[in-house]
Amino acid sequence: MNYQSDDKGYYGIFGGAYIPEMMYQNINTLQNCYLEIIESSDFQQEFRKLLRDYAGRPSPLYFSDRLSDHYHTNIYLKREDLNHTGSHKINNTIGQILLAKRLGKTRIIAETGAGQHGVATATVCARAGLKCIVYMGAVDVARQSPNVEKMKMLGAEVRPVQSGNKTLKDATNEAIRDWINNPVDTHYIIGSVVGPHPYPDMVARFQSVISEEIRVQLLEKTGKKTPDYVIACVGGGSNAAGAFYHFLDNLEVKLIAVEAAGKGVETGESAATTALGQPGVLHGSKSLLMQTADGQVIEPYSISAGLDYPGIGPMHANLFVTKRAQFLSATDEEALKAALFLTQCEGIIPALESAHALAALEMISFKPDDVVVVNVSGRGDKDMEAYLKYYQSVK
Ligand SMILES: *Cc1c(COP(=O)(O)O)cnc(C)c1O
Repeated sequence: MNYQSDDKGYYGIFGGAYIPEMMYQNINTLQNCYLEIIESSDFQQEFRKLLRDYAGRPSPLYFSDRLSDHYHTNIYLKREDLNHTGSHKINNTIGQILLAKRLGKTRIIAETGAGQHGVATATVCARAGLKCIVYMGAVDVARQSPNVEKMKMLGAEVRPVQSGNKTLKDATNEAIRDWINNPVDTHYIIGSVVGPHPYPDMVARFQSVISEEIRVQLLEKTGKKTPDYVIACVGGGSNAAGAFYHFLDNLEVKLIAVEAAGKGVETGESAATTALGQPGVLHGSKSLLMQTADGQVIEPYSISAGLDYPGIGPMHANLFVTKRAQFLSATDEEALKAALFLTQCEGIIPALESAHALAALEMISFKPDDVVVVNVSGRGDKDMEAYLKYYQSVK
């Protein structure tokens, strides 16, 4: 079984490039040159140097005494929250900005949900001196205002999107529309393992540094080559793809993907794609998608803007149908509780997205000698308003 994409961008039956004529030129160019560029030694040298000196990698693999005691097993946290700009998103934007420069592009566009990808994109654009436009649903502009202010200070233009339910899906639609209208000078930095081929594979490669480091760090700390579990939250699926990547073929490693159940999978206010979805096409690739019987996209809901998306990347759709990964879901309430627990027992305030991964610790019975790695995809600064509201309600 091969869990990577084939050369047409297919993961089993999922993936591919379902695009309008007007995007063909840009996508075709990317398909033809991305591997040659990103695997070249001068690209890799520059990419690795920036990951180290600019983003602050490697991110630590931290043994959590207190979570380990509590769950009677061995829990390690992969600290993507400590990266520059506060999440794993910077790994991908550093890679894509280097690619855009090599393609001679001068204008960068991006979509963002929680604002972490918008900030990471605005950051690398500031450094590269390139124009940056970020599309963001109007609801997300309101609920993630610290990130909106950061993007503006970094010199990006933030365009609020008023269509649909004004969240990540709608922002992505607008970014695609922009690219169709500006095909020559613009590169679209997609923030997750979604979109037409080659984006899912390209973004997974940039994020795979996460599992590359876990391997080395785990061996150093435990003498073990592989963990028993890797747990990560899934919005589009980029932090999970990065955390799983180098373990995909180690079948003894249990891969746990955690989706956002919102108010509950059966409530109609949820973003648990694998529980609710059917095969369909969204944003340029075939994957699992929350949709009505006649193929209309169902509006998702999650308290966490980064997980509030009605699809998942094609790699994850394939991991789900082949059962290589186990998919769980955590509600808003379970995530808030997990975030408060980590904060008060380890002094680490996680992003609301990452809190969904932490909530899965409650759902699995571990053995005392299991080695469990939880990917803490980002930090919680942007979520303080939601946390305070919750914290005051349970105090
Ligand atoms: C964007 C984001 C996510 C969700 O995106 P993936 O592509 O699924 O990783 C998760 N955690 C944080 C902190 C994010 O910023």
